[in-house]
Amino acid sequence: MRHARQTQTYLDTDILVLGAGLAGLRAAIAAKHPAPGLRVTVVSPCQRPSGSSFANRNNALGVQAPAPDQAKDFVAEALRLAAPGLAEPQLAQALAQNAPACLDFLLSLGLAFRREPSGSLRFFPGCFSTTPRAVVFDGLAQAHAALVAQARALGVAFIHGHEALRLAQESPGARVSGAWLAPLRGGGLLGLRARCTVAALGGPAPLFARRICGPGGSGLAYGLLAEAGAQLVNTAYLQWFWVEAKSRAFVNPGELSWPPHLAQLALARLQHCPMAFGLPDAALDLELLSRQEPGGIVHAQHPARGTLALALAAHAGNGGALINTQGRTSLPGLYACGECASGMHGANRLGGAMVLSALVFGARAGQAAAETAAQTAPSPDQSLGPQPAISADPAAHRLFLRGLRRGMQRFGLPGTAYSPARQAFAARLQAVAEDARAGQRERLLARSALAVQEAPETGALARASGGQRA
Ligand SMILES: Cc1cc2nc3c(=O)[nH]c(=O)nc-3n(C[C@H](O)[C@H](O)[C@H](O)COP(=O)(O)OP(=O)(O)OC[C@H]3O[C@@H](n4cnc5c(N)ncnc54)[C@H](O)[C@@H]3O)c2cc1C
Repeated sequence: MRHARQTQTYLDTDILVLGAGLAGLRAAIAAKHPAPGLRVTVVSPCQRPSGSSFANRNNALGVQAPAPDQAKDFVAEALRLAAPGLAEPQLAQALAQNAPACLDFLLSLGLAFRREPSGSLRFFPGCFSTTPRAVVFDGLAQAHAALVAQARALGVAFIHGHEALRLAQESPGARVSGAWLAPLRGGGLLGLRARCTVAALGGPAPLFARRICGPGGSGLAYGLLAEAGAQLVNTAYLQWFWVEAKSRAFVNPGELSWPPHLAQLALARLQHCPMAFGLPDAALDLELLSRQEPGGIVHAQHPARGTLALALAAHAGNGGALINTQGRTSLPGLYACGECASGMHGANRLGGAMVLSALVFGARAGQAAAETAAQTAPSPDQSLGPQPAISADPAAHRLFLRGLRRGMQRFGLPGTAYSPARQAFAARLQAVAEDARAGQRERLLARSALAVQEAPETGALARASGGQRA
């Protein structure tokens, strides 16, 4: 691949936040509290509301908001849903512990919460739960504006139009000391040195041809974290939604016509929008997947609407860098939060728990990063490690991305059986990920895709489902 001629500029900050979704903005705001004099810089490709936090098609978000007397049940429910993925009890407990503060924070922003006629907050059961303890707010652009205004008022700086293409470090596994940023519209690389770095890069849904995540995501998060040597968990567990292939309107498989012996499973399936992992009603989704025609279309009968042409679309990820209760990853100097962090939920998560997690661990990561940075002497001469090579050919990049997304849609869905074609696709990904002549975006996308496709859990799932699909 042809590489762009690269010039570099170097900048310094104290805390670098990569990504400007809910998690990144919450982290940046929290980082300003312990030591207001520290420089906090947020990097994001777009200035306008983007990503799943601020540009998702529902224009609304649900948030789990367990009251203190509901904390125990919330944690038990979250952990029960985690199998066959990994969830750490202390991380689920952190969600419950900080949920009231998180709700107060959102209320302080003046967001448009859904309310009862009496004016009190209206509580809903989130997916996978029958307990009404989630609240919902509408108006994501308004939420974005409120968070950005608060961050700017505190003195947070923004660098838009750039994306991180490598975490800066001497070698994989070493301390992270900032990031290499590439401009989206041409120009040289920017080496941004930081005492602490917070990854809030969003999830893996952009890796798939059929997806219903918000626009503006890159799909680079797992690749960036894996390349740096961070420990990743639960990366095979995405949330998958069935949609009508043309309109992308959501359809719950529980609404479809099923033979009488599957009626109980259909009833259970109605309690959650995303496909489950490891729960009995996943049998319905796997049955639909086994009927996929070329192009991934499944024809299914709806009792009221006749034959529907359905497809499975990627919505959000439950995996990412394993963090501790302070949002620290396994790498010194690197924190993670939001959809690129994991361990607070496993294979399945309660509806509304991702927004809670983005806010709770955004706040914890930002605060811990600032406390650490305040105690770390700046080291302006510290090397940022090798700089990445950017592809100079946007058309070649688009072609690569299209092929990767098609391949992931074919081979990266739950229950995909082992096959020579799947193995060949994985081998191609591996070759790109290791090819020093490939562009860095392509290498990272390949690494992200491998993290989803080759996670040990995917194989276990394929075996559990009998490997229905070729
Ligand atoms: C339609 C829809 C509805 C949803 N509803 C709910 C709900 O009701 N409740 C719930 O809990 N969850 C819900 N989710 C999931 C939830 O919205 C997301 O998981 C969450 O908002 C993710 O927040 P985030 O900040 O981690 O990522 P995002 O909001 O996706 O932000 C990621 C940011 O990182 C930036 N970025 C990406 N790559 C780079 C890079 N290389 N360098 C720098 N920046 C980069 C992006 O541009 C963006 O600014 C929903 C998701 C969708 C798609």
